[in-house]
Amino acid sequence: MDLGKNISPTPQPTEGSQEKDVKPVEEKKVARPIQIVQANEHNFELNATALEEVLLQKHVKDLNVVVVSVAGAFRKGKSFLLDFMLRYMHNRDKDSWIGGNDEPLTGFTWRGGCERETTGIQVWSEVFVVENYFNLLLMNFQVAVLLVDTQGAFDSQSTIKDSATVFALSTMTSSVQVYNLSSNIQEDDLQHLQLFTEYGRLAMEEVSEKPFQSLMFLIRDWCFPYEYCYGMKGGNEFLDKRLQVKHNQHEELQNVRNHIQHCFSNINCFLLPHPGLKVATNPKFDGRLRDINEEFKKELAQLVPLLLAPSQLVEKEIGGNKVTCKDLLEYFKAYIKIYQGEELPHPKTMLQATAEANNLTAVAGAKDLYSKKMEQVCGGDKPYVAPGDLKRCHEEIRDYSVSYFRSVKKMGGKEFCQRYQNQLESELEETYTNLSKQNDGKNIFYAARTPATLFAVMFI
Ligand code: GDP
Ligand code: MG
Repeated sequence: MDLGKNISPTPQPTEGSQEKDVKPVEEKKVARPIQIVQANEHNFELNATALEEVLLQKHVKDLNVVVVSVAGAFRKGKSFLLDFMLRYMHNRDKDSWIGGNDEPLTGFTWRGGCERETTGIQVWSEVFVVENYFNLLLMNFQVAVLLVDTQGAFDSQSTIKDSATVFALSTMTSSVQVYNLSSNIQEDDLQHLQLFTEYGRLAMEEVSEKPFQSLMFLIRDWCFPYEYCYGMKGGNEFLDKRLQVKHNQHEELQNVRNHIQHCFSNINCFLLPHPGLKVATNPKFDGRLRDINEEFKKELAQLVPLLLAPSQLVEKEIGGNKVTCKDLLEYFKAYIKIYQGEELPHPKTMLQATAEANNLTAVAGAKDLYSKKMEQVCGGDKPYVAPGDLKRCHEEIRDYSVSYFRSVKKMGGKEFCQRYQNQLESELEETYTNLSKQNDGKNIFYAARTPATLFAVMFI
């Protein structure tokens, strides 16, 4: 396959890749990773021209797109895995797609040390066209597969914010998000996932029940195969245990778990063994299979088709609609704008704190709305209203105010927000009770009926 046929011979160099720019023209045509989103001290830049060159290629632009993104921290073997995914895409009709014993691995830059650590998103310049036999009835024979590498660091407050943003973008734009983790699923990993899915959810126009499609936890260097075996079966058993919500768990731990389950339609986990010391430590290792542990290769041969075999491909959907390559470009442009603006709340210290603030502001806004509307009905300068009418007005205005609360974009997940909604509803009932009493006070007939007034009347 001619890797270069689909892309323009003038790549957009990213900062720090000057050496690539001086390569001979012929070499520039070769398919390669392209930095499309870059975080620069809280500024997010989309290289729209480069993305256009990838997504608007004539033979793919109108095809439904499948976006597989491998996301996670630096130096955890993401590019290494993506290179095997590329091998699969180039040779998927062959049993020996995984390659020869002495073939160096090429594609995304993956050798430790020489890579500049840029928080951002890279896509592979070649978009693969796959016959989608499973979609015959829908008359849609081909889909386009885009491979994406998303990376960030989670080691300080500022890097967390930047990383959460690029991960959110990746979650919103991918149909399959592979969350690449080292050795285990730590509580931190879940919290980060919660943060960036929350960031993503917040930016979506319509917050549907499950805004994202597939999530796969990929655990590298799994060391407990005797507890949970390698592969997806062991992975899913392990994940079930890890995502279990227990009543005696701290509330925050429960929230994280509920939140993640509510965000994705499909969640899986795959346990990969350690690839061997040559892969992990030898600086001369060039990716050849001979140097990789058998067990790793065996599991890798299972993993890649699980993500990329034609029957497994998940077409990207946003708001229930399939997305073409051309549409995806527009989504990228729109989503990046949200993060460039100041519209979104910034995660200051913890997601929890932000979520609380969001909800409290929404409660206050909704109460204010209720009070203003009720003021017009039964305020101090308004005449007495028949109790039945007042009750009807209250119910109508209460529902309006609650739906306002629900429409405000808030962090924290469904259950967390429900608690604030309950608080709002009971505060509105309380306000109504007071307003009714005030209203009753305006009714001279009612007042005349109270024993105190009767007493006063009797002695006039
Ligand atoms: P990325 O920054 O996440 O893209 O990581 P790379 O793919 O560049 O890999 C970083 C280093 O980890 C390289 O030296 C790889 O040889 C090595 N590596 C790749 N896969 C694995 C793995 O599953 N386990 C370990 N321990 N090392 C790996
Ligand atoms: Mg990499």
